[in-house]
Amino acid sequence: PSTPTMTSHKFCPDCGSPCESRVPDGDHKPRSVCTACEHIHYVNPNVVVGCIVEAGDQLLLAKRDIEPARGRWTFPAGYLECGESCADGAARETMEETEATVEDLGLFALLDIPHIAQVYGVYRARLISDHFAPTPESSEVRLVTMDEIPWDDLAFPSVATALRLYADDRAAGAFRTHTGIVEWTGEGSRFDLAQYRLRGHRAN
Ligand code: ZN
Repeated sequence: PSTPTMTSHKFCPDCGSPCESRVPDGDHKPRSVCTACEHIHYVNPNVVVGCIVEAGDQLLLAKRDIEPARGRWTFPAGYLECGESCADGAARETMEETEATVEDLGLFALLDIPHIAQVYGVYRARLISDHFAPTPESSEVRLVTMDEIPWDDLAFPSVATALRLYADDRAAGAFRTHTGIVEWTGEGSRFDLAQYRLRGHRAN
């Protein structure tokens, strides 16, 4: 599979002049380069962080009330902000999407999703109060048992992959830390979560 072309700058964020796509001297890939000030605007993957929030034998899931995947279920997750740690970002997203406060965050999975240029960091975390509630980002927030996870109604391949790993570890009675690449099989629809696999999976 070829490397996806991610959004590049049409105009220079520094001086406003048009950018062109070319391979800078000494580089090996086309970059967005300003035609006036010569600034090279690199585009790098985004980091998404989230929490599988545990409360006894239940997990906290949220029904998305924003696009993409509005109306589908996820554990709380979102883009890491500049200046915060991954764990702090995961706890912040949990608060923003579910009003839940968490502690004891431990890395559970680091998933590469090259086809959308994302790195997905998933933590296990403990719910520290009974409070959680819908928010502008989530129409519904619920504690579910493993049997109640809505597998056919999850928001993203990354979410389904992380929850599947979690369910397997939980059934085996031992949690590990997982890495791997979430990939579309190339068959069926990209919107069908069943058409994704985890390549190069390792567990430590
Ligand atoms: Zn410029």
